[in-house]
Amino acid sequence: AQPAPPAGEGYDVVVVANRLPVDRDGDHPDGRPRWKRSPGGLVTALEPVMQSQDGAWVGWSGGASDDPGAEEVTEPFDEGGMRLVPVGLSGEEVAGFYEGFSNGTLWPLYHDVIVAPEYHRTWWEHYVTVNQRFAAAAADVAAEGAVVWVQDYQLQLVPAMLRARRPDLSVGFFNHIPFPPYEIFAQLPWRRQVLEGLLGADLLGFQRPGDAQNFLRAVRRSLGLVPRQQAVEVTDADGSRRRVTASAFPISIDTAAMDALARTDAVAERARQIRADLGNPETVLLGVDRLDYTKGIGHRLKAFAELLDDGLLEADGTVLVQVATPSRERVEQYRLLREDVELQVGRVNGAHGTLGHSVVQYLHHSYGREEMAALFLVADVMLVTSLRDGMNLVAKEYVAARHDERGALVLSEFTGAADELGQAVHVNPHDIDGLKAAVVQAVVMAPREQRRRMRAMRRRVGEHDVQRWARDFLAALRPDVARDVAEATE
Ligand code: ADP
Repeated sequence: AQPAPPAGEGYDVVVVANRLPVDRDGDHPDGRPRWKRSPGGLVTALEPVMQSQDGAWVGWSGGASDDPGAEEVTEPFDEGGMRLVPVGLSGEEVAGFYEGFSNGTLWPLYHDVIVAPEYHRTWWEHYVTVNQRFAAAAADVAAEGAVVWVQDYQLQLVPAMLRARRPDLSVGFFNHIPFPPYEIFAQLPWRRQVLEGLLGADLLGFQRPGDAQNFLRAVRRSLGLVPRQQAVEVTDADGSRRRVTASAFPISIDTAAMDALARTDAVAERARQIRADLGNPETVLLGVDRLDYTKGIGHRLKAFAELLDDGLLEADGTVLVQVATPSRERVEQYRLLREDVELQVGRVNGAHGTLGHSVVQYLHHSYGREEMAALFLVADVMLVTSLRDGMNLVAKEYVAARHDERGALVLSEFTGAADELGQAVHVNPHDIDGLKAAVVQAVVMAPREQRRRMRAMRRRVGEHDVQRWARDFLAALRPDVARDVAEATE
């Protein structure tokens, strides 16, 4: 164990996440690096907490420290009212820890082995080394008795590593992706180490109650600990006993911000323009996903193509806009997926397009928030067909943007969001006939029915936003800190 910093030093709330909440954006004229806040709900949710509490954020800045020409920032700095503590990774560690173990082993394993996970001992070694580095960085900056909140599957060993160094801390962990059934998790050669790493936390948060149950079952099967009321008792190295609780805290979005953005004149005007550019079709369907094999983009395109073949959708009056954000392009499976999707898009357009009209508009880019909001307003039907998805924030963003209470959401039952958005048109994306029927149901849905469903979903997403998610988690982990935050941000 290492000593806590002297009284009055260190940070009271420390977030540990794979990435820092900022992206490098060139340099200031005087040569200092310039940063811009990265888009994303996590930063939005935690910013008020961090600013009111003396907060620090430990994370990787995104580059490789031995990359020639890349000047990596290694010293902590202040930005946006919080202390940012960069963790450096070598090129080999980026390949082994990030692209390898995180995205080539854990990601497919935790998403129901949609593609085969790869198990490489060198990847695991990098995972251990890098987790140790994150734990050390967090232990260095946390004040005596601080709250440390570790985020996501890249850092599952950090809770126990942190506790070994600093038993005085309260440690929380939130898993943003699913936690698989034990029969799948059991494949992992290092399953015990991962479970023991997680059990270093006081509170483990998951997206759905089913994920928390899967975790507790894995702990029982693999470690022989018997859970009671969503908690297990563990014995630390020093012999002391401790309760670890595992429960669901479904993450959300900054609902008010999306709602407000979608109400602006600029976004409304942009939506009109997009619709006109598409040729003012009768029906616009929209998919917005990272180009990832978990998203069921192929299933969606297949269903859409068959509906055109069957004549149940008119090629003339219909456009499917598919935004596919580039993702993990150095991982082999993602390159193959991109080729498959682009081939499929080409086929549908070849079969059903005309000189002036493509039935699928495929966009392999990233967009700003405004453009995204405008696309949501254009979409008569939003298609979320993930084969497995921890939450799926796009579904919630669509709902938050539809202040006009129009539009229909087709939502895979294999998303966390399906638990909360009961009024969406639920689908099993593997069932192509069922998916086709759901798309038709959404396309022909009467405005009254759209309104009834959208209202209910908007109520849910309005009440359960990402700010509430952060509050609820913190209140379960450390009620005293949650109260301080509430007072300071009132
Ligand atoms: P995942 O975390 O697996 O990518 P989510 O749906 O939970 O899936 O979150 C995706 C986030 O990324 C959403 O906030 C969405 O708006 C954003 N996003 C997706 N595609 C794009 C894009 N092309 N440009 C900008 N933001 C995007």
